[in-house]
Amino acid sequence: MRSKDKIAYFYDGDVGSVYFGPNHPMKPHRLCMTHHLVLSYDLHKKMEIYRPHKAYPSELAQFHSEDYVEFLHRIRPDTQNSFRTELARFNLGEDCPVFENLFEFCQIYTGGTIDAARRLNNQLCDVAINWAGGLHHAKKCEASGFCYINDLVLGILELLKHHARVLYIDIDVHHGDGVEEAFYFTDSGTHSTGRVMTVSFHKFGDLFFPGTGDVKEIGEREGKFYAINVPLKDGIDDTSFTRLFKTIISKVIEIYQPSAIVLQCGADSLAGDRLGCFNLSIDGHAECVKFVKKFNLPLLVTGGGGYTKENVARCWTVETGVLLDTELPNKIPQNEYLEYFAPDYSLKIPSRLIENFNSKSYLSTIKVQVMENLRHIQHAPSVQMQEVGTLLSIFSKSSVQYKSLLVWFHPTFISPTLTKMSRTQMNECISIHKTRKSRGMMSTTTETMTTITRLDHEAHSDGIQ
Ligand SMILES: [Zn+2]
Repeated sequence: MRSKDKIAYFYDGDVGSVYFGPNHPMKPHRLCMTHHLVLSYDLHKKMEIYRPHKAYPSELAQFHSEDYVEFLHRIRPDTQNSFRTELARFNLGEDCPVFENLFEFCQIYTGGTIDAARRLNNQLCDVAINWAGGLHHAKKCEASGFCYINDLVLGILELLKHHARVLYIDIDVHHGDGVEEAFYFTDSGTHSTGRVMTVSFHKFGDLFFPGTGDVKEIGEREGKFYAINVPLKDGIDDTSFTRLFKTIISKVIEIYQPSAIVLQCGADSLAGDRLGCFNLSIDGHAECVKFVKKFNLPLLVTGGGGYTKENVARCWTVETGVLLDTELPNKIPQNEYLEYFAPDYSLKIPSRLIENFNSKSYLSTIKVQVMENLRHIQHAPSVQMQEVGTLLSIFSKSSVQYKSLLVWFHPTFISPTLTKMSRTQMNECISIHKTRKSRGMMSTTTETMTTITRLDHEAHSDGIQ
């Protein structure tokens, strides 16, 4: 039976053939294993499969600094010794090594997330999956924690062209610091309050990487209260995790009212991960995906961490099934990588018998603090939606481009009391928009600029005063 939702799935086999190095825990080969397991369960017959485009350097520079992108493009393993200063500056080396085809690897996983966002924007699918994406630690000007380009930030910026508010949820065992940082102060690239909210569930304490993600980190300036952190201790199990996840996420969605969701499904939060310290079973992990899907909002799903690769493949296959409303038999069918799933060849892995250091009182304290912070944004979204409505009624046009443009402008330039946009005001919008773009302050694509030019032209011919 085909799911009633339309699912787009992005995969390029080339992404799984790069090699970080013999002692490096990141094994992109896990992506090939996942894909073959997905195929062995015939899940490809229930969704649309796409090979993503390779993101252009100019697309990567919508968030990252141009010199960083240019360096990633240029650096090769055999020439890196001549660039020690730059390597140090961009944090390339041990955790984030320079390997063969590094830039192409970045282009593919990022292209997948951007393509996924575009298909969602154009309403060509309800859910878009890119297991190769989810590299949440990458920063604007540097690599971090095995991540080079932050495809999630770029995917969110893409979604913001058509969506008023995007919710980012992260269940990797590590804090989603790169995505949080991008929107922490001023809502990176959006220049308005509250268009992105980030929520990260992760291990915090004992100097665990990356060291950030305390419950007290809530965003600053225009970003205040739009970053939510749920710091957890070792050994958290399915019951505690899913209960907390559901309570917080339902409240966030009720209050924030996102129009699209990005879900980072790092599989290093599973029991038995080589780097992780949580105790989630695959069912527990997948329960979070199932819960988010139930809200029926445009959903972009990515991978992330995950260092026991046979379990990563199991987890993301089960979650592909969840997104397709398809239960999968526990016995793994014949496939190219079957031997990796020995000795029992079963799809599900259980939790382990380890201690859960998250006491009920600790979890309750965290929950109360998060809920308290959420109270501060209680009424913000409804005002914004009213503004969008007012603007749409001014133009009496409902084309995707118009909506997109209005979402871009709103609410930076337009006051909620505005009843008619005058020719002068429109000119002002256009010139501010162009100036911001020329200063690199806003991620404006060629497409949006074309729309602005057309709008400008139409405004002349429509005789808007
Ligand atoms: Zn991780």
